[in-house]
Amino acid sequence: MAGTAVRGRLTWQTATVKSLIDETPQVRTISLSVPEWAGHQAGQHIDVRLTAEDGYQAEREYSIASAPGEPVSITVERLEDGEVSPYLTEELRVGDEIELRGPVGGYFVWDVAEGGPLLLLAGGSGVVPLRAILRHRERVGSTVPVRLLYSSRSLADVIYRSELDQPSAGVTVIHTLTRQQPPGWTGYARRVDQQMIAEVAWPAAEAPLAYACGPTPFVEAVASDLVAFGYPARRIRTERFGATGQ
Ligand SMILES: Cc1cc2nc3c(=O)[nH]c(=O)nc-3n(C[C@H](O)[C@H](O)[C@H](O)COP(=O)(O)OP(=O)(O)OC[C@H]3O[C@@H](n4cnc5c(N)ncnc54)[C@H](O)[C@@H]3O)c2cc1C
Repeated sequence: MAGTAVRGRLTWQTATVKSLIDETPQVRTISLSVPEWAGHQAGQHIDVRLTAEDGYQAEREYSIASAPGEPVSITVERLEDGEVSPYLTEELRVGDEIELRGPVGGYFVWDVAEGGPLLLLAGGSGVVPLRAILRHRERVGSTVPVRLLYSSRSLADVIYRSELDQPSAGVTVIHTLTRQQPPGWTGYARRVDQQMIAEVAWPAAEAPLAYACGPTPFVEAVASDLVAFGYPARRIRTERFGATGQ
């Protein structure tokens, strides 16, 4: 069995697009049928490989948006000048095939045994693996308390908005809208900073586990804010999407 699982993770395999959901004007969730999927943990990612007709190949990493046990899905934000994300968000159709391998990553994952309370910090599409964690928590009936601090440019850019508007018991979602706020908005309206962390985060004395994911500058800023707030580095897990991505 172990051999099968390892082969599954390292080998490129063909997946078929089952459904496409527009989350925001720039962001699309792609649900995939992966015949030889070995299963995954909440927080892991996959490698996606596209091959052009002339043989040119491009590979990118995408977090798995679905919980373990659910069909594999990814949620991709379109970067207008990007190579791969415009194809995935605009060209790909139901029934098309893409190549992938995985799951990849054993550090930015959460399972019930890890405990909590959980502090989840998302910048833009960095919410994707955190959503997998939230769904996993719900599916296994965990009551670990969770706070999600989610930074988006505007309300229209909030990914999984209807899902996050109805969090399960014990989950609190706190938004900050950095560039544009709707009339009457009373929530945070700035980038995550030390003051916001101090207001939102579980005190370090409660031994929380933090997961921060998003563009590299976001992740580095919130991780150092958490350290300044007293979180030990070993209780802060980070996933960097790169210089852009929000
Ligand atoms: C572990 C992990 C998980 C990820 N999960 C997700 C996810 O769930 N959802 C998601 O949307 N993204 C995710 N990403 C990011 C994703 O892998 C891609 O980086 C992203 O989709 C952009 O790819 P692209 O081909 O569209 O853009 P690219 O072509 O790679 O370009 C990215 C940016 O770099 C610039 N650029 C490219 N080449 C150059 C150059 N030579 N000089 C200067 N600038 C350049 C482009 O203009 C563009 O702004 C993840 C990344 C990692 C590492």
